[in-house]
Amino acid sequence: MVETMQHWLDKQADLSPNRIAIEQPNRESVTFSQLRDKAKSFARKLASQGVKSGNHIAIYATNSIEMITAIHSLSYIGAIAVLLNTRLSNTEVAFQLKDANVSLVLSSENLLEKASLIENSGTSVKSFEQINKLAELDTELKREICLEDLCTIIYTSGTTGLPKGVQHSYGNHWWSAISSALNLGLSDNDRWLVALPLFHVGGLSILMKSIIYGMPVYLLEKFDVDQVHHGIVERNVTIVSVVSIMLVRLIEKLGVQTYPKTLRCMLLGGGPASKSLLEQAKSHGIPVFQTYGMTETSSQIATLSPKDALTRLGSAGKALFPAQLKIVNNAQVSPVNEIGEIFVKGLMVTSGYLNNDKADKMAFQNGWLATGDLGYLDDEGFLYVMDRRKDLIISGGENIYPAEVESVLDSIQGVAEAGVIGSEDDRWGQIPIAFIVKNKKSLDEKEIVDYCLQHLAKFKVPKRVYFVDALPRNASNKLVRHKLINLLPTE
Ligand code: ATP
Ligand code: MG
Repeated sequence: MVETMQHWLDKQADLSPNRIAIEQPNRESVTFSQLRDKAKSFARKLASQGVKSGNHIAIYATNSIEMITAIHSLSYIGAIAVLLNTRLSNTEVAFQLKDANVSLVLSSENLLEKASLIENSGTSVKSFEQINKLAELDTELKREICLEDLCTIIYTSGTTGLPKGVQHSYGNHWWSAISSALNLGLSDNDRWLVALPLFHVGGLSILMKSIIYGMPVYLLEKFDVDQVHHGIVERNVTIVSVVSIMLVRLIEKLGVQTYPKTLRCMLLGGGPASKSLLEQAKSHGIPVFQTYGMTETSSQIATLSPKDALTRLGSAGKALFPAQLKIVNNAQVSPVNEIGEIFVKGLMVTSGYLNNDKADKMAFQNGWLATGDLGYLDDEGFLYVMDRRKDLIISGGENIYPAEVESVLDSIQGVAEAGVIGSEDDRWGQIPIAFIVKNKKSLDEKEIVDYCLQHLAKFKVPKRVYFVDALPRNASNKLVRHKLINLLPTE
């Protein structure tokens, strides 16, 4: 039987027509019925430009109602939204457009100039406003969605190599939303703040949840510490999705204040979080739920549930309800507390990469996805994520996880950012070396090493420390460790 349902935005607009779908600090709110009408109208205008079912249409935009409208409009046509990171270089965008066979780029007004450079690569670009000015084509729109159909394509961040196009079906998004609700629960008062870019799966997934739950989204164009703080303190936001750096800034802003009880969940994901940050958040009474996921899993696949959040600090929790997790070492499932590669399986996991058989072969094994991340499960099945397999340092037979060393370095006063990699060494095979951006002039290597000796086993302490101006980061602001080697001074 083909798994179909009424188009989810039509359905929600029927169920809760006057409920707020999108709220913004300085713009009028949009209800579900208004959002449906906007999306359908936009779809008919796109149809007038020849956009058809199965077309790959890129979206190059900063968070806005227009962007959300465009994303939903494509589903009324059956076209697939390819979400582009706006911080990519032109060459990187050109690669994704070609790889995904994109026929049209839809851009927000503020990015149109940048987007028009993309046009040189041969793909036509139209702004949301240009489309909005067109007349609607009287065409039949999709009344149903099929869970197996492709809905979106998002490229991985490219932290470990070339970004890979991840295909998300409607079913992947559906199960991602359902499994999150089974874990976090759902309340009539829920209002989820979006400050993450909607072109990342962490941001996009909140839009899907909004439609499926009938829940208002409190939308910010981008992360702004004052606006997020205001949303939590003054606007009754109940859930906020953040990455580590956002949490750092929010804690600084919070000072000695506490958040109101209305904030029930600060969902922290996207990368490793240092123990000291989690402890700080705990001491401020912030309900941080650490979560683990990736583009391939349509956002969260494991999350620490509320009842365990305080006792399992540092854990990313258990696999969400319909998902499974296992740790594998040399093709064998690892025993409790033993580190190995994290494998995941579940209805929110992509069925494969776009046009990339090689990546598919490496990642998918008997229905499981090999994540490339290392971690372990404790005796009660809680997941602890250690690091990327590619970044593991082996020194004298001992494993060193760069993220653990970076987390200690980050907690030193005067260290703004830290990156750790292995450097070849005749005696030890590899030794850890650190790259540091400092924000206190007087900080020197000895201070850093002394601090590390107090907090880390000796073999994990960086053997050399290099002070640099900036660390290599990708368009998702993630540290690209394999590029750190280029920062070594030439002899
Ligand atoms: P690429 O796959 O192209 O190298 P990427 O893996 O950085 O890029 P994303 O899908 O954006 O692309 O990121 C997912 C990755 O982020 C995970 O595989 C993991 O390495 C990291 N990550 C996510 N959540 C956590 C977490 N709680 N703790 C540690 N790392 C995490
Ligand atoms: Mg990845």
